[in-house]
Amino acid sequence: MKQWIDILRQSHQISDEELIQLLTCTDADSIDYLHRQAQEVALSHFGYNIYIRGLIEISNCCRNDCYYCGIRKSNTNVDRYRLSREQILECCAQGYKLGFRTFVMQGGEDRVQNADWLIATVKEIRSNYPDCAITLSLGEMPREVYQQLFEVGANRYLLRHETYDEKHYNQLHPKEMSFDHRIVSLRTLKEIGFQTGTGIMVGSPGQTIAHIIKDIRFMEELQPQMIGIGPFIPHKDTPFAQAQAGSVELTLRLISIFRLMFPSTLIPSTTALASLSKDGRERGILAGANVVMPNLSPVDQRKNYSLYNNKAALGAESAEGLKLLSLQLEKIGYHISYDRGDFRLHTTI
Ligand code: SAM
Repeated sequence: MKQWIDILRQSHQISDEELIQLLTCTDADSIDYLHRQAQEVALSHFGYNIYIRGLIEISNCCRNDCYYCGIRKSNTNVDRYRLSREQILECCAQGYKLGFRTFVMQGGEDRVQNADWLIATVKEIRSNYPDCAITLSLGEMPREVYQQLFEVGANRYLLRHETYDEKHYNQLHPKEMSFDHRIVSLRTLKEIGFQTGTGIMVGSPGQTIAHIIKDIRFMEELQPQMIGIGPFIPHKDTPFAQAQAGSVELTLRLISIFRLMFPSTLIPSTTALASLSKDGRERGILAGANVVMPNLSPVDQRKNYSLYNNKAALGAESAEGLKLLSLQLEKIGYHISYDRGDFRLHTTI
């Protein structure tokens, strides 16, 4: 096993058979070795710096009905909200003061915060904060809209493909949603020039090791600049309320594999990881992640952006908790980097 991990580190390549062994391995020493190699690679690229992104959850209104998601349109127990442009700009102002130089606007696919509204909002953020990166995570849109958002100043776009197996995709989404469209959207984002992020939920209902291997092969082909992976966590008001949560261990293992395959890629230690395990954020970093995304949304709305049960939004998960985050990072030898932290191709050491 260690031999394959060494080869993966050097060549960034691994066969399907070796991946199966690595993903199902129960030997603690080998897994420990995998995490250490991934951490070393992350250190050689980013040092002990952890980039921070200020997450602004702009709306929990969504026209989609993904079976796993707490803000799906059929969930009538959600208190729906949308932030006004002024509220979003206020979040940016607070974030800027705290040292954030990336703002991530995430939300449901909302018909009211439509293309024109979003374009005008991004334009205003860009003009107020020329030195900041603007990341969007707002789902699927027509090419022209992505293009205009890019032209008015958005730099990055996060759109998890969720699964690269069409059948599995259809187990997770209603028939109105299209696997092909998701994948085309990702390719479009890349073509336009966005730093593009994709990813999966680990342990989503019906997911198999074969699916994960397909995901990895897709990512090899797409070469995303960011990879967002976190465990699936059930939400009580969804069709998957009774499903098992994904495994923290498997999520960490995948973070390490992705770090070895894509050394320069930006990989967050996700909120879902921190929500499922007390030291999940730190363990993600020790497994090779190099980004965290504290929550900058107005405190009174955070509980309404409930994608899954017990989602962390306070303490070190929050922008106002940066000191706590900083202390937690210090304990494992890392510190916050206030750099914009764009994707750069580094040479592997
Ligand atoms: N609407 C945008 C989109 O579809 O990309 C962004 C918002 S969506 C809520 C952001 C991500 O949350 C999804 O890509 C999904 O992977 C994740 N998510 C949703 N429900 C989840 C759950 N129950 N457990 C873990 N992650 C979840």
